[in-house]
Amino acid sequence: MFEEDNKNNSLIVLKKYFGYNSFRKNQQEIINAILAEKDILCIMPTGGGKSICYQVPAMIFEGITVVISPLISLMKDQVDTLTNIGISAVYLNSTVSQSDQVQIMDGLRKGNYKLVYVSPERLESPQFLQFFRQLAIDLIAIDEAHCISQWGHDFRPSYAKIGQLIQQFSARPVIAAFTATATKAVLEDIQTRLTLHTPLTFLSGYERENLAFSVVKTGNKKNYVLDFLDRYRGESGIIYTATRKDVEELQYFLAKNGNNAVTYHGGMSENVRNKHQEAFIYDNAKLIIATNAFGMGIDKSNVRFVIHYQLPKSMEAYYQEAGRAGRDGEMSECLLLFTSKDVQTQKYLIEQSTQIERKDHEYSKLQAMVDYSHTTKCLQTFIVNYFGDDSEKECGKCSNCQTDLAETEITIDAQKIFSCIVRMKERFGVTLVAQVLKGSNNKRIKEMHLDQLTTYGLMKEKTEREINELIHLLIAEGYLGLTTGQYPTVHLTEKAVPVLKNAEKVFQKIRPIQKEMPIHSELFEQLRQLRKELAENEQLPPYIIFSDVTLKEMCKFYPQTKEEMLQIKGVGELKFAKYGGKFLQMIQSFLLENKEVVPAIQIQTTKPKTNEEQSYLTTVQLFKEGKMIEEIALERGLKLATIENHLIQGAIEGFELDWEKVLPKEYEQLINNVRAEIGGEKLKPIKESLPEEISYFQIKLALCK
Ligand code: ADP
Repeated sequence: MFEEDNKNNSLIVLKKYFGYNSFRKNQQEIINAILAEKDILCIMPTGGGKSICYQVPAMIFEGITVVISPLISLMKDQVDTLTNIGISAVYLNSTVSQSDQVQIMDGLRKGNYKLVYVSPERLESPQFLQFFRQLAIDLIAIDEAHCISQWGHDFRPSYAKIGQLIQQFSARPVIAAFTATATKAVLEDIQTRLTLHTPLTFLSGYERENLAFSVVKTGNKKNYVLDFLDRYRGESGIIYTATRKDVEELQYFLAKNGNNAVTYHGGMSENVRNKHQEAFIYDNAKLIIATNAFGMGIDKSNVRFVIHYQLPKSMEAYYQEAGRAGRDGEMSECLLLFTSKDVQTQKYLIEQSTQIERKDHEYSKLQAMVDYSHTTKCLQTFIVNYFGDDSEKECGKCSNCQTDLAETEITIDAQKIFSCIVRMKERFGVTLVAQVLKGSNNKRIKEMHLDQLTTYGLMKEKTEREINELIHLLIAEGYLGLTTGQYPTVHLTEKAVPVLKNAEKVFQKIRPIQKEMPIHSELFEQLRQLRKELAENEQLPPYIIFSDVTLKEMCKFYPQTKEEMLQIKGVGELKFAKYGGKFLQMIQSFLLENKEVVPAIQIQTTKPKTNEEQSYLTTVQLFKEGKMIEEIALERGLKLATIENHLIQGAIEGFELDWEKVLPKEYEQLINNVRAEIGGEKLKPIKESLPEEISYFQIKLALCK
């Protein structure tokens, strides 16, 4: 019973404040556990929806929820987001002035806030810990909990103080730890250092369902990027390059070709960097070209693509950077442009900046990235396997899954490569093997008499690059292995033996076909513009007003009343009160100007609508009473187009009304004749073949009937 109540309450909070109808994977279970006062440990991918897991309980608990977060920039974002949906929240970190801090602390004592975000550094002060002791705290949520472990990649010494904070309370609050990545060692560390009481562990896996990964090998990256950007006009995206010089060169090239971008790298002053970052977050700049210095603490939810212009140094870095796309759950693209030259750049960087004892480790991490670039298996699967999840499920969206399923057999080529490597005594690297197979006149080959081998020139019909690629493919598929180090040599693995003996075949899939992204409607552009204006007025990032998902839902369902608008994902009550009217107005005038658009009136609802909510029924009733469309519109204070749409819904629902009043029999006949002649349901061609006086409304009505 108690559990049922919690479930209902959390759904009510989700709908009322966040405007969402249902929980995502594991969210409900996590919230239930927290509300049942159990500690939890949650591993959920970026964009999976961790925040809601503690924000919803925070609204149900009587006391305060403390959120410890390492990223100062994210705190403001989160607090703005919460305030904007009517949840009272504040943050305490080094950017808050002394006098503001006093006020905030006072407000917390008085119970004015449901959530307080705190940086771990604040916990270093004993006075602060003392202050927290006085508060009625029900829940401590720890974001990026992996920072507590030295085994993790972002160790933060001040996270160690969290344990002390927890010890301060006579009534211990519930502790909930969240992270997107954690190995087993890190998880154990989190559990002991936070003194979690037999926590319930929730692992949502590493998969990001809304990301489409692709690897492209092209000789002309710049032009490829230009074409790519053409498909994403008006959308936000990040391009990562390996060096500062690349950032600037690419910016110059893109600007010359009509694509303006801001830049971000360690060589710029902090002031300029911050300005550029802000321009990107506030949608004033759609594109940012950056080195890996950019991105920490960026919570922008509507990043539609992340391009890696060069190979990053490890899978960890790649997934973190690429993972900045699609935090809002919308389909987004992660493209890696690969050339073998970039491997050399990364090796150079390892040589320059790594301590000797870590070099092998770094080389093997880099090799995983090279393997990723050459594998023919599902890219998402490759990634989750790398992080220790043994799922073999294919994503169906990446460039390998999208590849034409016809596979080419490459057994003979593989055998040629294997035997060449054996003849070269497994003592050389990929480049030299490829050169021998090509029959290159390279001086080194002559000097070492490798041109005497029977495999010399065995694949001369191919280019050296093609042979190189094939060798890398065989490495990625595990037929060949590489030693670690700056100059790795290539050798056969056990998997190659049956191929050499003709007992097994090798196949290669054909490389990616890039899919066109759908073009957004004109309405989407208009709504986006409106969102930007509102955001500028309030000095908030646009995605805090409404996310892209919300705008896209509006473009799909064309809500025309408050009730319909509240059914849109991401429109809660306060947001409707603040912005709903403006968006409704824009949608209505769009529909008036674009009569051929048929709104999908039936919006998904979680509960049956009451009569009051079903606005169209009132219209149907008035129509039944003999009123004409214009009269109903006047009486109800609604637009003509709205009333017409109500009647169309009435027709869809099968109401027997006196349709002749609005659709004379001869018109209906004419419309049906033209429709049969033309075929299909497209309104525009039907309209153009009919006398002008027949309106879109009448055509729609005839089609619905
Ligand atoms: P994380 O912290 O795990 O990276 P967030 O908490 O920032 O992810 O959530 C990512 C996005 O998903 C946000 O825009 C959030 O509003 C949205 N979201 C979270 N839960 C839901 C849900 N149940 N339904 C729809 N959207 C959701």
